[in-house]
Amino acid sequence: IELLKQHDPEVAHLIASEEQRQRSGLELIASENFVSPSVQAALGSGLTNKYSEGQVGKRYYGGNVYIDQLESLCMQRALELFNLTDHEDNDDEGWGVNVQPYSGSPANFAVYTALLKPHDRIMGLDLPSGGHLTHGFQTTKRKVSATSVYFESMPYIVNPSTGLLDYDELAKRAQMFMPKLLIAGASAYPREWDYAKMRGIADSVGALFMVDMAHISGLVAAGVVDSPFPYADVVTSTTHKTLRGPRSGMIFAKQKYMDAINQAVFPMLQGGPHNHQIGALAVALREAQQPSFREYARQVVNNAQALSEGLLERGYQLATGGTDNHLLLWNVRPLSGAKVEKVLELAGITTNKNTIAGDTSALNPGGVRLGTPALTTRGLREGDFDKVAQFLHEGYQLAQRVQGLTEERYEKAALKNFIELLEADASIQSE
Ligand code: PLP
Repeated sequence: IELLKQHDPEVAHLIASEEQRQRSGLELIASENFVSPSVQAALGSGLTNKYSEGQVGKRYYGGNVYIDQLESLCMQRALELFNLTDHEDNDDEGWGVNVQPYSGSPANFAVYTALLKPHDRIMGLDLPSGGHLTHGFQTTKRKVSATSVYFESMPYIVNPSTGLLDYDELAKRAQMFMPKLLIAGASAYPREWDYAKMRGIADSVGALFMVDMAHISGLVAAGVVDSPFPYADVVTSTTHKTLRGPRSGMIFAKQKYMDAINQAVFPMLQGGPHNHQIGALAVALREAQQPSFREYARQVVNNAQALSEGLLERGYQLATGGTDNHLLLWNVRPLSGAKVEKVLELAGITTNKNTIAGDTSALNPGGVRLGTPALTTRGLREGDFDKVAQFLHEGYQLAQRVQGLTEERYEKAALKNFIELLEADASIQSE
């Protein structure tokens, strides 16, 4: 960074500012985390210089002797981490992995490209119910994701009053729509998935079953939530959320699908692998194999449950009443999630607005998503999360005080009230 300061002070300044923001605030975005210095070292290394289109041992460029070893090591560690190494390589029921996807969205699209024909039918959790854009999101007016442009999508939803997945309704929709691919996994669902039930539903309509474990892959690796592997044909993941690696993606699949998946990743959708990401991912996977990572993941869940308790005790409601994983959905109605997010940001607490069951607008939803992976990495424990709940409560009260204002005035007023509150606190402390 010293060198960068000399060569490009503008960028160095922005990096330093962002790092300072990350250090000085409370990071509650459920999909974010802090990587280790070792992961960061690999990510910022000379691996970024190398082209290596193709697969290990079958590259379109020379000079890949070390890159081949690195990608093999990364694949091996990925399979070991999820206990997928007990089948022979040529056994169709064994698992393979591709670690080249640039991130979670390209990983998902590569699976669709590999296993479906254009306009085949897919069924995933609807975005307002907590699903991800790449699972086929569209509105009545617009096909929002490429998945919904190139494939026909009909979502399933959570029960609007409980916020829980409704598997009977899902089964009915699947019978009606007959998807080729059923997708489990979400960006904002705080409860366990019944993978066995979903496998049964997929089988009953002749669909393949994919699980996108992007959010929970670190928790799966540590064994603190259920594993999808005994039930799925394909499992995709990002690597930068609870897994605490660099931004990247992975696709695990039964061997019989691996050729098609490898082809879809390259040459169909991507070019040269991002070797700096693959190197950093290998480091993160080794970290995740350590007993200390298992303790970390257990703490992430304990902390999410402590935060839930803290909010419930202060009179708030949570979608589904609590959490089994790393995230919770805080019901801030009658306030808007957008406004609560804004006030909290002014106070240095980063969250994101989120739809909760029954919401009709994604821009003005009634919920805020909160996650514990990042602050758990910083060493916070249950008692600390009770304090976080208190900060959120104070933020909510501030948001209430400024709620009637226009967007522009809202921000100023929230800031002013925040300063008043700080001054009041300071005078209490000096008394
Ligand atoms: N799948 C799920 C369930 C996600 O939550 C996300 C990102 O939040 C993705 C896929 C996409 O990941 P990326 O942002 O890395 O493309």
